[in-house]
Amino acid sequence: MSFWALVEKGKPLQAWEHLAEPSGANTVRVQVAGCGLCHTDIGFMFSEVPTRKALPVVLGHEISGTVLDGPLAGQQVLVPAVMPCGQCAACRAGYERTCPHQIMPGNDVHGGFGPWIEVPQSALVPLPQMISPTELAQFAVIADAVTTPLQAIHNLGLATHDVAIVIGCGGVGSFACLLAKARGAFVIAMDIDDNKLEKMKGLGIDETLNTRGLSFKDIKGFVKSVCQKNDWPAFGHRILETSGSKIGQETAFGLLSMAARMAVVGFTLDKVEVRLSNLMAFDAQVIGNWGASPSIYPEAIEIALTGALHLDQMTRLEPLQNINSIIENVHHHGTDRRVVFTP
Ligand SMILES: [Zn+2]
Ligand SMILES: [Zn+2]
Repeated sequence: MSFWALVEKGKPLQAWEHLAEPSGANTVRVQVAGCGLCHTDIGFMFSEVPTRKALPVVLGHEISGTVLDGPLAGQQVLVPAVMPCGQCAACRAGYERTCPHQIMPGNDVHGGFGPWIEVPQSALVPLPQMISPTELAQFAVIADAVTTPLQAIHNLGLATHDVAIVIGCGGVGSFACLLAKARGAFVIAMDIDDNKLEKMKGLGIDETLNTRGLSFKDIKGFVKSVCQKNDWPAFGHRILETSGSKIGQETAFGLLSMAARMAVVGFTLDKVEVRLSNLMAFDAQVIGNWGASPSIYPEAIEIALTGALHLDQMTRLEPLQNINSIIENVHHHGTDRRVVFTP
C-alpha cells in the first residue's frame, strides 16, 4: 500500500512505498480509516502556498483511524488537523490555536494520504464508542471541516434562536449550517450554486439565497424580509464567512448590523475594502480562528454521533489509489460532497 506525496508543485502526487522517517519520542502510529480532501491540500499542490515541511510531503490533514501501538492500541481516534504542543507559553495562556510548535499533518509532518500516520499520542482524540469502519472513515471530516466552523460558532457565541448567516455552502460552510442548526439557531445559507442550496434546504436549513447576480442591497433586503416574515431578531446576527472569497468577505462585512458578529472562516489572499468604523457604530465584532482547539473535538464528535451532520450525505468515500484522478476532478469541477480517501 502506498503513501501519496507531493514531490513537485503542479504535478500529480507520487506513490511512495516506504516512509523513511525516524520515529520521534511519544509518537504512535495510527492506521488511517479515512483522510478528507481539503482545499488546503489542493492549494499546496496548485498554488504558491508552501508546505512548512520541505517537499516531498505526504498530504492530508483530516484523519480518522485506529491506534496501532502503545497503550491506546485498538482505540478509534481522530487526529486533530492542528495539534498544539500544550506546553509553551501560548498554550498555557489558552492560545493553543496559535501555538508556535503546533503540528499540522500534511504540512509540518507527513499526513494521512497513506495507510498509516505517525503522530504525538497526547494529541489524539478517542471516540467514546466503537463505530463501523465506514462511519469511522466518514468521521475524518470532523478533524477540519467540522471542528473549524464549530470553533467559529463558539467564538461567535451563537445561541439558540440567534440568526446565523452562512456565506458559502461548500464543505466547511455546509457543516457550519448544520452545526448552527444543531445549536437551535435560525439559519440563512447563501451560495452561488443552487444545488448546494437545495441540499441545505433538504437537510433542514431554514432559508437559502442564491446571491449570483444580486446587488448587495438585494441581499440585505432578503435578510431583513426573512427576519420579519419569520419573526426572527433583527439584531445580534452571527455571520460565518466560509467562502474564502473577496466578494463573500465584502458581503459578510456588509451584513453586519447592530450587535452582530462575523467569523472569518474561509481564506483568501485577496484584500477587501471595508469601513471598519461600522464595527464601532454597530457595536459589532469580527473574529477569526486558525483551526480549532482540541477541547472542541468531543463536542463535535457528540454532535456527529447524533446524526445531525448527515455524514452519509455530506461525504463520499473514495479509494486512496484513485487519489490523483479524483483530485484532478475536484480541482476543476468542485464536488457536491466532502471526499474522504480510504486506504
Ligand atoms: Zn483543511
Ligand atoms: Zn504550544
